[in-house]
Amino acid sequence: MLEIRGLDAWYGEAQALRGVDLEVHAGEVVTLVGRNGAGKTTLLRSVMGLHRQVSGSIVFDGTDLAKVPAHRRARMGLGWVQDDRGIYASLTVEENLLLPPVVSDSAWSTEKVYDAFPVLADRRRAPGTTLSGGEQQMLAIARVLRSGARMLLLDEPTEGLAPVIVSRIRDIIHEVRSTGGTVLLIEQNVKFAATVADRHYLLAQGAVVESLDNADFQARQGELL
Ligand code: ATP
Repeated sequence: MLEIRGLDAWYGEAQALRGVDLEVHAGEVVTLVGRNGAGKTTLLRSVMGLHRQVSGSIVFDGTDLAKVPAHRRARMGLGWVQDDRGIYASLTVEENLLLPPVVSDSAWSTEKVYDAFPVLADRRRAPGTTLSGGEQQMLAIARVLRSGARMLLLDEPTEGLAPVIVSRIRDIIHEVRSTGGTVLLIEQNVKFAATVADRHYLLAQGAVVESLDNADFQARQGELL
């Protein structure tokens, strides 16, 4: 579904990604793990077309994305949930949810989203800013699901959240997979990563240094970060 070959990325003269090869198959959940500054966010931003100083190839659903602008990548079914969650303060929960256009037949109707995220249903008229961090994260995920994204790109969805919310996000990722969705997520919490993902890529200094299935990842999680 997503195939990245020889991806380099720069900020001016500074190289942030070095020859990254990575693939995610339809229906998989895959994590990117690595220390701060390893290049994880740059990689997801490059896939979304938000970081343009890149070379190499990124192919999504058979289409080379090199000339495809960011807004069209979203319309092709790539759903980006950035680490600051991107919730609009002046809009209600429901307005935030309904804001992105529906890009394809989504398994996630507005009703199904509210069923899966009852807290958002309860608070649908509340301003986006009155939500807790965990509720904002759920809204951000709910929004891309409802828009029909077939592949979610999540930047540290569990960062700073209470264990009960982390567990809810785990359930949601499992549900996304069981409804045919695909997820590529940045996750610093290796224990969480081991409970949600099929495979893992370990990045260091802009390069993929390990590609592990979940059994190997679990066996080695203590030594990885
Ligand atoms: P973190 O978890 O801290 O976000 P990361 O693995 O996502 O880390 P990136 O944010 O992709 O890493 O950063 C990769 C490299 O690119 C780092 O060396 C970082 O300092 C550099 N970098 C990131 N953003 C910029 C920027 N806007 N300008 C210059 N350099 C940047």
